[in-house]
Amino acid sequence: MKCPVCNKSMIILEHEGIEIDYCTRCKGSWFDSGELALLLHDELRHEESLEPALLKKGARSCPRCGKRMRYGNFPNTKVEIDVCPVDRGIWLDKGELQAIAKAQGVSESMQRVQVFLHNVFGSQIEGEKEA
Ligand SMILES: [Zn+2]
Ligand SMILES: [Zn+2]
Repeated sequence: MKCPVCNKSMIILEHEGIEIDYCTRCKGSWFDSGELALLLHDELRHEESLEPALLKKGARSCPRCGKRMRYGNFPNTKVEIDVCPVDRGIWLDKGELQAIAKAQGVSESMQRVQVFLHNVFGSQIEGEKEA
């Protein structure tokens, strides 16, 4: 899959059953429908909506199906996310995952996100420093 921002081929990262497509150039990441919910919530809260209440037409195309994505604020935050209206995948720019976890104020999800980022991006961040 190509990054919707810089069109570079993304790499697939996996952690505890959650698979994301990650762009090493702009550090954005793509979550298929439901994957972000898995990361942020425990099982009982899967059905909680993670979609912005108000969606505006955006300029980026969905890396999965090519349809024009919409954008809006992640619920209860000021973080603007891109959502595909067809397959409900979510695109997060660099730093937005951390911002969402922080804004949610749930230490448990913050912790989960930190472990996720460490396990998934840790080796890469170190690799970049070495390079
Ligand atoms: Zn990119
Ligand atoms: Zn799509």
